[in-house]
Amino acid sequence: MLKGSCLCGGVAYRVDAPVNDASHCYCTMCRKQHGAAAGAYANVPSAGFALERGADLVAEYASSEHGRRAFCRTCGSTLYWRSEAEPDVISVTLGTLDPDYDGPVEREIYTDTKPRWLPTA
Ligand SMILES: [Zn+2]
Ligand SMILES: [Zn+2]
Repeated sequence: MLKGSCLCGGVAYRVDAPVNDASHCYCTMCRKQHGAAAGAYANVPSAGFALERGADLVAEYASSEHGRRAFCRTCGSTLYWRSEAEPDVISVTLGTLDPDYDGPVEREIYTDTKPRWLPTA
């Protein structure tokens, strides 16, 4: 089981299912929403995802015709992404998992919009 929370601690969730397909996404929407070089997500089955605290603090924004992005109204932490076209899956943000996600990152997507300012090793 995994847990997750937002920066202010108002929202907490748990994942009772395998996490898979972790990715860094460099699309312009993920970059804007995270305020960073990439969005970092992993997929979990919707049936294994549950908010434990702060459901009233979670706002969802329709960032496209099919995608909805959830964030904490108080601190702005981005929590998950879901698509109405794929209701069985929720993509949780790797950065909100407690403790830190320690699994593999399986892919990078939208690398054509990877920012030039991203530090390299
Ligand atoms: Zn918060
Ligand atoms: Zn993206």
